[in-house]
Amino acid sequence: MKLVLLGPPGAGKGTQAVKIAEKYQIPHISTGDIFRKNVKEGTPLGVEAKKYMDKGALVPDELVVALVNDRLAQEDCRGGFLLDGFPRTVFQAEELDKFLKGEGKALTAVVDLRVDEDELLERMIGRRVCRSCGAPYHVKNMPPKKEGVCDHCGGEVYQRADDTEETVKNRFLVYKEQTMPLVAYYEKAGCLLPIEGTGGPERVFGAIVEALGQ
Ligand code: AMP
Repeated sequence: MKLVLLGPPGAGKGTQAVKIAEKYQIPHISTGDIFRKNVKEGTPLGVEAKKYMDKGALVPDELVVALVNDRLAQEDCRGGFLLDGFPRTVFQAEELDKFLKGEGKALTAVVDLRVDEDELLERMIGRRVCRSCGAPYHVKNMPPKKEGVCDHCGGEVYQRADDTEETVKNRFLVYKEQTMPLVAYYEKAGCLLPIEGTGGPERVFGAIVEALGQ
């Protein structure tokens, strides 16, 4: 299966991506995670990406496209993949189409998670994540057993620099202006699967599996 996970920031893409990748045994490719890893390691890509990420802006298309093309060319993506957080612009979507076409492939489906904006804001501002293993938490809905400590690996649970209220608002604007057009793009391509993203992670996951039909 060659899948794209689409949806506004805070829609639960990361949570669903882990489940989908596990069920269908495909690599989970999160451009946000790749950038965060590079920022943490202080690589040239990380230093460049951080300038944009801290403001809630998108990293320039050329950087992201080259990164994803490299990743998709790796052996483990032959049987399929799940892209989480990519594409985020029409240009990126067109480049992805070109890349896949060059390999004689096409996307199986684009899962579009839909959540009301007020709920998204509350989800994101309360969002916390483990610095070591990336496990997601929420101050109200899903706090770690011990404050600030990951239940799974004992790592530090922190708030991403781009989950503060000001940055979150900017990320929504960026989503509306640059990423929302992808809904129409994939609708036209006939591979869009709209999924209601509320009612708990298990319900949402069930709806995704049902929509994928396998
Ligand atoms: P995410 O974890 O997917 O919300 O991504 C965090 C940040 O990484 C975004 O706000 C962007 O600054 C950057 N980023 C991740 N994926 C992309 C992408 N496909 N295009 C441009 N910037 C991206």
